[in-house]
Amino acid sequence: MITLDTALFKDELFKVFEINGLSSLIDDERAEKLALLTEIMLEENQKYNLTAIKETDKIILLHYADSLMTASLFGENSSVIDVGCGAGFPSVPLAICRPDLKITAMDSTAKKVNYVDMVSNELSLNITAVCARAEDAAKVGSKDSFREKFDIATARAVADLSVLSELCLPLVKVGGSFAVMKGKNGKEELTHAKKGISILGGRIEAEKEFLLTDTKGETYERVSAVIRKEKETSALYPRSYSQITKKPL
Ligand code: SAM
Repeated sequence: MITLDTALFKDELFKVFEINGLSSLIDDERAEKLALLTEIMLEENQKYNLTAIKETDKIILLHYADSLMTASLFGENSSVIDVGCGAGFPSVPLAICRPDLKITAMDSTAKKVNYVDMVSNELSLNITAVCARAEDAAKVGSKDSFREKFDIATARAVADLSVLSELCLPLVKVGGSFAVMKGKNGKEELTHAKKGISILGGRIEAEKEFLLTDTKGETYERVSAVIRKEKETSALYPRSYSQITKKPL
């Protein structure tokens, strides 16, 4: 069993959250949960690949703080879908630090979904873990369709924004939003995806460039954006995954 030095972990966590303007999202109870999450993730990572990042300080910055950089955009009690959640990013840190949210964590890989479900049970989180492909779950007439069911869709490190918009926007209610989390190419991706976003019923409402910063002053470029869903998405979308990737809108 992997056991962390919890006091050291929490010290680093509080510092990183403060540097990155996330202090309002953290308290002692949430920090305890993030420490436990770290132990579980590193333990399970010995059995199968959940994260390439194994150093605790990097996990705090590049998984936890990074997952929470758009959290302030989410209205109280919103329903949120995390498309391609993998090992639970951003869904698990969001569920820990924003317990008011009703989160659905979706991934096409059963192993990852089972892991997120286990973590959610261990930490008593408000997450429903679902094994599905986003483009299937959002199709008109699909069984148990998630089409236009969520206040917010989000995703991290899943696909280029042109592709990701067609996976995410059909899941969002009219009036809701797609919270975009991107690295340093985010601005370019937003420019390229603009036409497709409009076809899918969305409009880029806000975008922001910022630096994720560690305790030694090292920085990582990030771009976040809010894409507002203004109109219903045409029943033509989402297309099949091969069409989406071969001919992005
Ligand atoms: N979001 C996590 C993170 O930031 O660590 C995982 C990122 S991982 C690189 C991409 C994940 O997206 C994989 O777990 C993959 O199975 C999932 N994925 C890719 N395309 C998908 C789709 N169309 N529907 C659902 N999940 C998908």
